[in-house]
Amino acid sequence: MHQLTLAEIARGLADKKFSSEELTKTLLARIAQLDPQLNSFITLTEDLALEQAKAADARRANGETGALLGAPIGHKDLFCTLGVRTSCGSKMLDNFKAPYDATVVAKLAAAGAVTLGKTNMDEFAMGSANESSYYGAVKNPWNLEHVPGGSSGGSAAAVAARLLPAATGTDTGGSIRQPAALTNLTGLKPTYGRVSRWGMIAYASSLDQGGPLARTAEDCAILLQGMAGFDPQDSTSIDEPVPDYSASLNGSLQGLRIGVPKEYFSEGLDPRIAQLIHTSIQELEKLGAVIKHISLPNMQHAIPAYYVIAPAEASSNLSRFDGVRFGHRCEDPKDLTDLYKRSRAEGFGPEVQRRILVGAYALSAGYYDAYYLQAQKIRRLIKNDFMTAFNEVDIILGPTTPNPAWKIGAKNSDPVSAYLEDVYTITANLAGLPGLSMPAGFVDGLPVGVQLLAPYFQEGRLLNVAHQYQLNTDWHLRSPAGF
Ligand code: GLN
Repeated sequence: MHQLTLAEIARGLADKKFSSEELTKTLLARIAQLDPQLNSFITLTEDLALEQAKAADARRANGETGALLGAPIGHKDLFCTLGVRTSCGSKMLDNFKAPYDATVVAKLAAAGAVTLGKTNMDEFAMGSANESSYYGAVKNPWNLEHVPGGSSGGSAAAVAARLLPAATGTDTGGSIRQPAALTNLTGLKPTYGRVSRWGMIAYASSLDQGGPLARTAEDCAILLQGMAGFDPQDSTSIDEPVPDYSASLNGSLQGLRIGVPKEYFSEGLDPRIAQLIHTSIQELEKLGAVIKHISLPNMQHAIPAYYVIAPAEASSNLSRFDGVRFGHRCEDPKDLTDLYKRSRAEGFGPEVQRRILVGAYALSAGYYDAYYLQAQKIRRLIKNDFMTAFNEVDIILGPTTPNPAWKIGAKNSDPVSAYLEDVYTITANLAGLPGLSMPAGFVDGLPVGVQLLAPYFQEGRLLNVAHQYQLNTDWHLRSPAGF
């Protein structure tokens, strides 16, 4: 039963082949047996899951239908869940039980999804390896000595290991697409504003966006359907109708114009990954797509701009964790300053502290113009490059990451080398565009992802291309040995 996709689960539940309660019990037992190897969950919500599963079975017995009704999922542990620890992978929030549900959590629960638990993540979503979690590193099910990617690494590892059919993630600079690529999943970062950020603990508010991680594009369509939509509680949420994503999967790719930017194939890309990306391009050409060679000339400035803007926003967002209102508080503070200082020094790990320092520096008087303002100008240039490209092409294609998953600990002494792994993903966040990563093959037994980017609100187009590709390839069907 653990091999079933969301789409297959929906059919199985509708045909009464099994109940949501049976499925939930099977997966909880599997998690108890296998997750100690992976560390993909921070908190399991067994009681809540069984209660939701029984309620979903009762709703189905009353004639209700729905693709998510009774479907087990997990939530990245930065989506607030009422009464359940929401840690954001940090000691700072180890004792924090959210007093409300994030909009995404509430919407999925209303659609009948069953929450099995909260998944491990890089502390405050800062990272691309899932090594910065207070709860320890997550292991990649394809090779337990390697990272699963981050920051949604727990969601990715759990889905890749068939502990869950699908899970939520968030993507500020690649944290859905990159772990999807490194664990052989399909992951979608929606257009900025498509999915509500209300109740999603903020890292960099102008970049953060929640989205689905699953094995197939078909399943991403189902999960995104349950997550997307206008939310008056989030002032950056966009009041646009949500299309039927599953209905968009079957369009023909005949004549689809795919732009391949030359900057995506520059130095730094593992040539074996380049080869697999070229093979996936040929596959899409067979389906009728037309390839155009394009340029995104400002891409080289994306990493420096992102690593100013994201820490700047983080330094502001994380100022609320002061030891007073919620989260970690130091013992016996001498005075208020000591309380702030020690609570924050004890509660935040080294990567989070580094980002707060960089961000506060970039925003400080005298440096603002030199760093933050410049970075914002680069951001606009990057967006303009995409707008120019999308005058000529329907989607943009390239690798998701320059390398396959690295060994746990390999980049610990050099944070910048980890930042460079984001080179292909962060431009979509800077521009607010939707992006998807899907399986494209293996290098040394480790998965490789191909990334697709589309114009604003064209999630349906991304899912369509990915689904057609998956009907004609089998990379996404491979599962890691031992799971
Ligand atoms: N790796 C990037 C960072 O560390 C992106 C993380 C994310 O998307 N949450 O900031």
